[in-house]
Amino acid sequence: MSDSSTFDVAIIGGGPGGYVAAIRCAQLGLKTALVEKRAALGGTCLNIGCIPSKALLHTSEQFHFAAHQAAASGVEIEGKVSLNLETVMAKKDKVVTQLTGGVDMLVKKRGITRFNGHGTLLGDGKIAVDEKEALSAKHIILATGSAVVDLPFLPQDGETVVSSDQAIAFDSVPENLVVIGAGAIGLELGSVWARYGSKVTVLEFLPNIAAGCDTDVSKLLERCFKKQGIKIYTDAKVTGTKEIDGKLNVVAERKGKELAVPADKILVAVGRKPYTDKLGLDTVGITPDKRGFIEIDDHFKTSAAGVYAIGDIVRGPMLAHKAEEEGVAIAELLAGKAGHVNYDVIPNVIYTEPEVAGVGITEAQAKEKGIAIKVGKFPLQANGRAIASDATDGMVKIIACAETDKILGGQIVAKGASEMISEIVTHMEYGGSAEDLGRTVHAHPTISEAIKEAGLAVDGAAIHSL
Ligand code: NAD
Repeated sequence: MSDSSTFDVAIIGGGPGGYVAAIRCAQLGLKTALVEKRAALGGTCLNIGCIPSKALLHTSEQFHFAAHQAAASGVEIEGKVSLNLETVMAKKDKVVTQLTGGVDMLVKKRGITRFNGHGTLLGDGKIAVDEKEALSAKHIILATGSAVVDLPFLPQDGETVVSSDQAIAFDSVPENLVVIGAGAIGLELGSVWARYGSKVTVLEFLPNIAAGCDTDVSKLLERCFKKQGIKIYTDAKVTGTKEIDGKLNVVAERKGKELAVPADKILVAVGRKPYTDKLGLDTVGITPDKRGFIEIDDHFKTSAAGVYAIGDIVRGPMLAHKAEEEGVAIAELLAGKAGHVNYDVIPNVIYTEPEVAGVGITEAQAKEKGIAIKVGKFPLQANGRAIASDATDGMVKIIACAETDKILGGQIVAKGASEMISEIVTHMEYGGSAEDLGRTVHAHPTISEAIKEAGLAVDGAAIHSL
């Protein structure tokens, strides 16, 4: 192989895990190649996931405010507030193009060699791009991300039965949208289309929405969605579809009865699976586990020498920021530094209204693990800034070790919870205690004061609640 196609590190997959790993490798002086099959870098997150959905959440919130809430705040709009979905989608696309263009520029400026096409492992450090041997590297990082999971009895057709890939780009507002799965994707995109006027029904198999969140959080969130007109059925196991009076219905089993919900569009949001199609894993002797995940050790090493894996294809939450941290850590390890990810403090956010953000363990998880805890809660109804901003739906909950007072977890339900959670994350990163939170000066009036108050509440010392 020529010098121009031989690298210290080659990364397959240009999402948040892969492109961040590439940038960090290049910063550390490693000759780096990045193989990506999409024309634009940024992976699912930038192209069809986190970023476009956030753009839609923002514009739908503005529309909903203008159409339904403005008058109560004294903003009188003459005439009917109408929606131009073409403009909405164009704005979303512009956001995506700006960000993917930015990543492209960073990758170029760092001197990273980009290969555009599908990467396949050939063994001995060699990689084919679109089936032609193209490069070789001493170290290979797999960062190929994830793909949506299908329901076998309800295959997606991209028209009526869709995934998030299509639900971020509908060309009209569906009259009836049925969302299957009350995880982050279902709740976020369900919120978007409900604000734009769809009748949204969410069907969730488990007893609570937002599985994995604190039960108090799930219950509170469910009440908020109901107020927003989103119908939610928990304990509902979707089994298929059927026509009733000439209309398509989604059918679910619920508490021994059949539930049928009319649907113009059906969003299947029942999870994602590792994406390793045609990656050549068998060629290098890597066998994914039953669910498709690649096993790695604490240093991201797979069972194949010189091959590492990060992001959605390995254990841990399928989150862009987790993949990014792993990208940095593996680059540092390959450069001989001490790369490390603190998996105990990875925040998780659902960007609904209110937003939900959590980090560390929940009360239920502490119980399961037999950890003695103290809990402090503070409701936003008692927070001045929340009252002044029509944002009283929510609360903060802090879980601290009963013995040491060290913060073990925190949950926030609030407008802006996604930004607020960083405070708890930072305290946890430095081993902070609930008392530390309670003694940290917060600007007044801010919704963040609820975090301080929840920290104080751990020892019954909250000032503005009983
Ligand atoms: P998820 O796994 O978070 O939620 C899927 C839900 O579908 C679960 O609650 C499950 O019980 C339910 N379900 C499964 N089969 C069902 C059936 N037959 N009938 C009814 N309900 C059923 O999956 P997701 O929301 O699709 O998200 C996929 C991944 O992407 C997750 O790992 C998520 O963390 C990540 N993601 C994160 C964000 C964010 O951080 N804001 C946003 C989008 C996606």
